[in-house]
Amino acid sequence: MSTTAQIALDPGAALRRSREDVERAFAMLIDGEWTQASSGEVFSCTDPYTEESWGRVPQAGSLDVERAVRAARRAFDERGWPQTPPAQRAALLRRLARLIEAHAEELTYQQIRENGKLVAEMRPGSRLLARACEYFAGLAEGPCGLTVSSHDFTTYTARQPIGVVAAITPWNSPLLLLGWKLFPALAAGNTVVVKPSEITPTSALMLAQLIAEAGFPPGVVNVVTGHGSPTGAALVAHPGVDKIAFTGSTATGKRIAQVAAERCARVSLELGGKSPNILFADAHLSAAVDGVIAGIFAASGQSCMAGSRVLIERGIFGAVAELLVRRARELAPGDPLDAATRLGPVASRAQLAKILGYFEIARGEGLELLTGGARLERRGFFVAPTAYGPASNRSRVAREEIFGPVALLIPFDDEDEAVAIANDTHFGLAAGVWTENVRRAHRIAVRLRAGTVWVNNYRQVSYAAPFGGFGQSGIGRELGPEALNEYTEVKSVWIDQRAP
Ligand code: NAD
Repeated sequence: MSTTAQIALDPGAALRRSREDVERAFAMLIDGEWTQASSGEVFSCTDPYTEESWGRVPQAGSLDVERAVRAARRAFDERGWPQTPPAQRAALLRRLARLIEAHAEELTYQQIRENGKLVAEMRPGSRLLARACEYFAGLAEGPCGLTVSSHDFTTYTARQPIGVVAAITPWNSPLLLLGWKLFPALAAGNTVVVKPSEITPTSALMLAQLIAEAGFPPGVVNVVTGHGSPTGAALVAHPGVDKIAFTGSTATGKRIAQVAAERCARVSLELGGKSPNILFADAHLSAAVDGVIAGIFAASGQSCMAGSRVLIERGIFGAVAELLVRRARELAPGDPLDAATRLGPVASRAQLAKILGYFEIARGEGLELLTGGARLERRGFFVAPTAYGPASNRSRVAREEIFGPVALLIPFDDEDEAVAIANDTHFGLAAGVWTENVRRAHRIAVRLRAGTVWVNNYRQVSYAAPFGGFGQSGIGRELGPEALNEYTEVKSVWIDQRAP
C-alpha cells in the first residue's frame, strides 16, 4: 500500500481547486508510517460548493484502529514519550506552531474544500491554531501541582499524563477543534489517536504531515480516517484507550460516554447548543444586530455556539426584526474561496436535508416565517438565512439544535423573563447579552447557565480562556490552563519527615 505523504504542501496550490484533487489518494498516519486501510476500503469527500466528489480517503476498520492504538500504547508505555523533558515537548510544539504558520494558507484551503466555510472565517482560524499550539507549548513547561505541608509530612501533588487519548472531532472547525485536544494532550505527555470527521479527514492528514515534519516520534500522534461506525466506534470501545476527547453532537457524545463508562475511561465532551442572544431595549441596536447576524449566520449557522435563539425585549422587537431581516437578505452567496462571499454552503447533503427538515417542522408548528425558509436555487448546498418570529421557546425549533442559518426570534418583557427563557433549555454552551447597563450585564452574566457569556459581543474565543458547556452541552473544558486538567491525573505523594 502507498506509504507516500499525501498532500502537496505548496503555498501556490492553496486557494484553488485542482483537477488532481479528484484522483488524489490520501493515506493515514500510523506509527510514523503513511498507510492505507488494511481492507483497502476508501471513501471520498464532497465539495459542498460544487457538489462534486474528490479524493480517496482510507476507511479504517477495527484492524487499523487496533494498529493505531497499539502504536500509541507503545509510544506511551515503552518508548518514553511521557518521560520526555517538558522543555523537549514544548520545543516540538513550537516547531509545529511555526510549520502551521508557514502552511496556514494550505490548511485554510483544505478545510474550505471540505466544509465550504468562508475564507474570511477560516483564515483567522489557521492563525489561531498556531497561537494555540504555542500557548500549550508554554504550559508544557509551566509549574504543576501543589505542596501541602504539615508538621509530620510534606505532601505534594503531581499531574501526570493519562495515557492514550482518542481525539474525535466534527467537521465545522476541523483543525481548531482538533488542536484544542491535541496540543494540551501532547503538552501533558499523552499519546494520541485522532479520528477526524468523515467530512473533513484530509485537513487532519495535512496537519499530521506537519506533526511528522516537526519531529514528534512515531506513534505519539496517529490518525485513522473513517466514519463514526466502524472507525469511531472501534476506537471508543478499544480497551487500550484511556481517555476520549470528543467534540460533536449531544446524541453521539452520550453514546460515547456510555461505552467509556464500562471501563471508567476518562471522557471530555464538547457537545451541541441552542444558545440565547439577549437584546435589551437599552442596547446599541446596530451593534447588537451585527452580533445577532454573526452569531447565527456565520458559518451558515453550523457552529456549536450559534446564537440560534434571539431574545428581544418587546419594545424593540419590531425594529430588531426588521433590521435583522434586511441584513440577512444582504448576505450574498458565492464561492467560499472568494473573499467577497458572505454566505457559504452548508457542509454536506445530509446537513442540508436536516435543515430543510426543520423548515417542514416550523411549517407544521405554524411558526411565522420572516425571511428564508428554503434551499437557494443554485449549485451547492446553500440555505437562505432564515428567521422566524415572534415565536415561543416551547417549539421544537427553539429546543433542538438545527446547526444551520435559522434564527428564532422570541420576545420578552423583563429581565427575569429573559433569564428564565434563556435557561429553559437542556443545553448550556454560550449566551450573549446586549445592554448598555453595566449593572444589568453583571447580574445577567451570573444568572445565565452557560459555559461562556459574551456581553456586547458574540463568538469571541481565545486559547487562553476556557470553553465548554453546562448541562447537555458537555463535560469538561477546552482551552486555557483548565485544558491541561483534562489530560492529566493528579497524584498525591506523602513524604514522612519523622525520624524513624
Ligand atoms: P457527530 O456527533 O455526528 O460526529 C462527530 C464525530 O464523531 C465524527 O468524527 C463522527 O465520525 C464521530 N462519531 C459518530 N458516531 C460515533 C460513534 N458511535 N462512536 C465514535 N465516534 C462517532 O457531529 P457532527 O455532525 O460531526 O458535528 C456537529 C455537532 O458538533 C453539533 O452538534 C455541534 O454543536 C457539535 N460541536 C460542538 C462544539 C463544542 O465545542 N461544544 C464545537 C463544534 C461542534
